[in-house]
Amino acid sequence: MDSAYKSNAIIAAPIRVIQLVPNARDVKGSQTVAFNLPNDERIVKDRGTSMVILKNVSEAKFKHILLPIADACISKEQQELVHFESFFTHCIYHECCHGIGPHTIMLPKGEKSTMRLELQELHSALEEAKADIVGLWTLKFLICQKMTSVAV
Ligand SMILES: [Zn+2]
Repeated sequence: MDSAYKSNAIIAAPIRVIQLVPNARDVKGSQTVAFNLPNDERIVKDRGTSMVILKNVSEAKFKHILLPIADACISKEQQELVHFESFFTHCIYHECCHGIGPHTIMLPKGEKSTMRLELQELHSALEEAKADIVGLWTLKFLICQKMTSVAV
């Protein structure tokens, strides 16, 4: 990546893995397994972010949603490879990888903007897809690093 696109001021976000007991927020729709907030780039710039991963929600989604999908979509001989720990590890890397990449960008005419503003309604889907694939890439990278260091 060209250095022009790298973030200069990186603030390490704390990662909290919690068990969700009550959920008294203004919840509509599905419960996410994790959140990395705030989304407002101005607040992120001033205060940083906080990453929260809901372990018991992750376990429930894995058991009641992902295992039935795996049962329908993955061959019987490969289903023994479907594990909660792998799913949960990827959730953590997905969340970490939300922070990778530029949030504030410079437009061709020299104006400052944000990825969210420029991508508009596509931002959320593209951001989630990026976090998924970069999370997987990072896990593969670290596995290869570990294999290299073990072999040395
Ligand atoms: Zn995400």
